[in-house]
Amino acid sequence: MSEPDALPPLRDVIAKYDLAAKKSLGQNFLLDLNLTGRIARAAGDLTTGSVIEIGPGPGGLTRALLLHGAKEVIVVERDDRCLAALEEIARAYPRRLRIIAGDALATDVAKLGPSPRRIVANLPYNIATPLLIGWLTQATAFQSMTLMFQKEVVERLVAKPRTKDYGRLSVLTQWLSEPRRLFDVPPRAFTPPPKVTSSIVQIMPRPSPAYPARLADLERVTQAAFGQRRKMLRQSLRSLFGEAEAVLTELSIPPTARAEELTVEQFCALARRLEGGVRDRRPG
Ligand code: SAM
Repeated sequence: MSEPDALPPLRDVIAKYDLAAKKSLGQNFLLDLNLTGRIARAAGDLTTGSVIEIGPGPGGLTRALLLHGAKEVIVVERDDRCLAALEEIARAYPRRLRIIAGDALATDVAKLGPSPRRIVANLPYNIATPLLIGWLTQATAFQSMTLMFQKEVVERLVAKPRTKDYGRLSVLTQWLSEPRRLFDVPPRAFTPPPKVTSSIVQIMPRPSPAYPARLADLERVTQAAFGQRRKMLRQSLRSLFGEAEAVLTELSIPPTARAEELTVEQFCALARRLEGGVRDRRPG
């Protein structure tokens, strides 16, 4: 089968460089060109600035991004076995592919490449959430993030109040960005197939957070509230506010409400109360 970019088929690349997938590195490779092309197109116009791809592996998605016209792709890959395959792609696309051998968790991705910067990645699932949280907290560095996660994680990212998936990750993500679920990808699209269905999500960072609050305060409030998500807030927030019931009433939140009933705006209002110094006033 000939490939549209004149590079060898991905199966041959995997065989040539002996890239048997390693579970410890979250390796599930995408070999279906229709799918990698669809992800690249979903990322929008890539002809300006730079595209950052985390975990390119043998380079299927990388090739799709370059074919789709990406001006410059910067890849960060931890598995040195993949580097020779990536260098072959770099030779086919002179000056358009930069390869960084390293750990994405230890890389300041917000400083890689010129703006507008877009992240596009089929993420290693074992570190996908910490990576996302790190990028969200520097969200203005990125124009967009088009990411593959486990479907259940995407459901949490986009979940609205009063649903079972709504939690800390939903509040933080929606405070800092507008996430949109694009499409699902079945296990059989990967080599080897993972156990779960995956989804592509597009995350558009907000120019500034949706409501004023400090990140650390919002994290404390959501941790306390969702840490005991079946309890009423007047109980679960007692560790943060001595007068939890009074604080809730003052903010027009029923003290008997549970965490999943609060909007992002209400969590931010609670976080600002924490900032205001109304700490635990209980004796002892
Ligand atoms: N992009 C390829 C594809 O779609 O076929 C591979 C995706 S695979 C799910 C995840 C990739 O992330 C693997 O190539 C793996 O080696 C790489 N990886 C795992 N941990 C990493 C880390 N900490 N930093 C950078 N890359 C990592």
